[in-house]
Amino acid sequence: MKKEEKIMGKEVSFWLESSPATDFPKIEKGLRVDAVILGGGIAGITTATLLKETGHTVAVIEADRIVKGVTVGTTAKISMGPNMIYKNIISKLGKSKAQDFANANIKAVEKIADIIRERKIDCEFKRLPLYIYTESDEKSDEIKSEFKAARELGLPVSYTEEVPLPFRTGPAIKYENQAQFHPRKYLLALSKYVIGNGCYIFEKTCAITVKNGDIKEVVTDQGSIMADKVVVATNTPVYDPDQLYKHLHSGRSYVLALYAEGNFPEGMFIDFNPVHTYRTTPTDKGNMIIVAGDHSPIDVPDKNVYYSRLENYARKHLNVKSIEYRWSSKDCVTDDGLPLIGMTSQEGIYVATGFGFWGMTNGTTAAMIIADLINSKENKFTYLFNPLRFL
Ligand SMILES: Cc1cc2nc3c(=O)[nH]c(=O)nc-3n(C[C@H](O)[C@H](O)[C@H](O)COP(=O)(O)OP(=O)(O)OC[C@H]3O[C@@H](n4cnc5c(N)ncnc54)[C@H](O)[C@@H]3O)c2cc1C
Repeated sequence: MKKEEKIMGKEVSFWLESSPATDFPKIEKGLRVDAVILGGGIAGITTATLLKETGHTVAVIEADRIVKGVTVGTTAKISMGPNMIYKNIISKLGKSKAQDFANANIKAVEKIADIIRERKIDCEFKRLPLYIYTESDEKSDEIKSEFKAARELGLPVSYTEEVPLPFRTGPAIKYENQAQFHPRKYLLALSKYVIGNGCYIFEKTCAITVKNGDIKEVVTDQGSIMADKVVVATNTPVYDPDQLYKHLHSGRSYVLALYAEGNFPEGMFIDFNPVHTYRTTPTDKGNMIIVAGDHSPIDVPDKNVYYSRLENYARKHLNVKSIEYRWSSKDCVTDDGLPLIGMTSQEGIYVATGFGFWGMTNGTTAAMIIADLINSKENKFTYLFNPLRFL
């Protein structure tokens, strides 16, 4: 038997399987728009939405199909508590920056909620608590000190020893009123808004380079498009005049979607070390449990080694009935744990990357900041995510 056959579940993201495919055209030649956005993930599509909303013509250029990159690999927890980060940021960058990061995360969660409410997007958006917990009593003090840090920053947290998971855990930080959704249903709805009135999404169009000038030429494998502004939202920047790649570290993470015996609680759960996460998602057969974890380098000779490890972990914790899907994806983490968002050293060319496995909020923050920069509107978080801060 081949190794692959030992692991159950179709190797595809559930988000992709449970939403329609897209079929946007390749680039039209000879076009000019206000802003070209490279990359059709959460950062790119949200940026295009906010720019169109504020009167700009936009074109999203996507090498493959939109929302099929890292954003389809996500587990789509929308939270102002991206794991155990605040204590670390306070000690590395100081309380004022940590406060601004917390405030930016709060704003991003609310922005997603506002967009969904205003546009009446049917994407299974649900407000739920998020727990960051430990299984090991020895790590309780780390939970306590992260809780203290998050509380000092005014985040909606409590310390609890009651984690409603169906297995024994130690204590947790509970973030109230966080959210989860179906990321593709959300972004496909936004993509429908983006197109029309001089705005475009082009798929199967791979950006090769940007020729800078007052007017920029985005060169693709299908021809060029001209724009006043360019936003590089390709996760790993494909146009990188400042060599930001030197400050980006990529890792891969693995996901299983499964059914288990018994009741599994709604809510989002993160075991902080070693990192494993849980959430559920509604399906015709009831709630399916999405379990993620097991980091590895991006390129590994055999992903099944990691899927198997995650499967063993899941079977140790849950009475697994069936594994339906498995998938994995990479994301980029920066030197200081904050994303890189804003204008590059080249006037009018912006970048959004380094979301550190927390791109639902960080990608939305990126869209808000870049839209404000292009609209010459003040955004008090711009300094914090300055992409040139390591240079
Ligand atoms: C397993 C896993 C679980 C996660 N869970 C969470 C979570 O619970 N909550 C959370 O907030 N975040 C989570 N994340 C992180 C989050 O999914 C990412 O940070 C986010 O989706 C990244 O979005 P993006 O727009 O930068 O990238 P992408 O979605 O990858 O979008 C970039 C796009 O650019 C396109 N592209 C690349 N090169 C070119 C080119 N040359 N020309 C044109 N287009 C190009 C790609 O095809 C891609 O579609 C998770 C990540 C993983 C891997």
